[in-house]
Amino acid sequence: MTMMQYRTVPKNGDKLSALGFGAMRLPTRRMSIDEERATKQIRSAIDAGVNYIDTAVPYHGGESERFLGRCLQDGYRQKVKLATKLPPQNVNTREDMDRILGIQLKKLKTDHIDYYLLHGIEGSQWKRLHDLGVLDFLDTAKADGRIRNAGFSFHGDRKAFKEIIDAYDWTFCQIQYNYLDETNQAGTEGLQYAASKNVAVMVMEPLRGGMLAGKLPAAVQQVYDKSPLKRSPAEWALRWVWNHPEVTVVLSGMNDENHIAENIRVCQTAFPNAMSDAELATIADVVAAYRGLVPVGCTGCAYCMPCPFGVNIPMCFSMYNDYHIGANRILTRGMYGAMLMGGVMPARADASLCKQCGKCAKACPQHIAIPDELAKVNRTLGGLRTKILMPVVRMMFPKEVKE
Ligand code: SF4
Ligand code: SF4
Repeated sequence: MTMMQYRTVPKNGDKLSALGFGAMRLPTRRMSIDEERATKQIRSAIDAGVNYIDTAVPYHGGESERFLGRCLQDGYRQKVKLATKLPPQNVNTREDMDRILGIQLKKLKTDHIDYYLLHGIEGSQWKRLHDLGVLDFLDTAKADGRIRNAGFSFHGDRKAFKEIIDAYDWTFCQIQYNYLDETNQAGTEGLQYAASKNVAVMVMEPLRGGMLAGKLPAAVQQVYDKSPLKRSPAEWALRWVWNHPEVTVVLSGMNDENHIAENIRVCQTAFPNAMSDAELATIADVVAAYRGLVPVGCTGCAYCMPCPFGVNIPMCFSMYNDYHIGANRILTRGMYGAMLMGGVMPARADASLCKQCGKCAKACPQHIAIPDELAKVNRTLGGLRTKILMPVVRMMFPKEVKE
């Protein structure tokens, strides 16, 4: 019988399953978590060797943590390392941090969180939390045992990522990483930087919100069809992430029994540096096929940043490109609203802020006509169809953390 693959956290020696269970897309029934089915899924994944469970306040409108508290009864809590996150949008004072952690411990029916993250920080959100005393909070919570390890999840640019890595003795971080995000956000450079500082890296969005699994654009599927290896697109994408020795846990937001079984099967043999040159060449061809389909050839290098008017240029282009190459369009609009139009992040950074000053375009090695392209992004993603989604987006990130 093959066994679950475990990878070691450099700073504490924990052996974590290379596949982590993300509790953000659990099976639902009549708009609520299908508790019976989700409990069976999570417990059977733990029985198969998964020992890292990741949740957060906003998942399932605040219900994911509460559900996990119940799901991990009957001895399952002791079998896993539990990760949850401090929601920056709900933190306005140093006291809020203790209050929210207290609520999370109650909801999760536990006396400690094994892996505690600052949720989804980037440059400005990090600075705000830092000034409110978040490092003192983490030190105190570690010292009194409420949390065991501190980390952060991240959606900003590489410069901000390195600054945050250098600012504290983090045990781990969590980044978006997949074969289309090598130069986007933290990217491969960030992954390697974290690893060089002995910071474990948990990977989220290995399938880019499902975009790299299921039905792919024809030009991309043709590349996979040429390979003698008959694998699902999801297996290819996951194997690529696990191929990186710097990656500790790959989080998958699972809700389908067949997908869970497939992920566990793939994880058992997807060791670091296990992919052959031919397999890596297939992935390189897949990336090239995607690049041929995107409307803006932005590599996410961020040389154009910062924009004096606050536009997050690479993120605008990344979402605009996703919109055109098979991502779920409503979800992409929702993300654009949440991340860039002030839905969740404190400052707006969307394409409508562009004043056409032209400063960024001079710095772009890809010679992208950035202001013109941003005008198109704004027309596509910044319009009424996104604005009417904003109340839903805000509802998903409640103002209050309730018990
Ligand atoms: S052209 Fe627009 S995006 Fe570029 S720097 Fe000026 S305001 Fe910012
Ligand atoms: S400089 Fe050009 S390629 Fe780099 S992130 Fe900005 S727009 Fe994209």
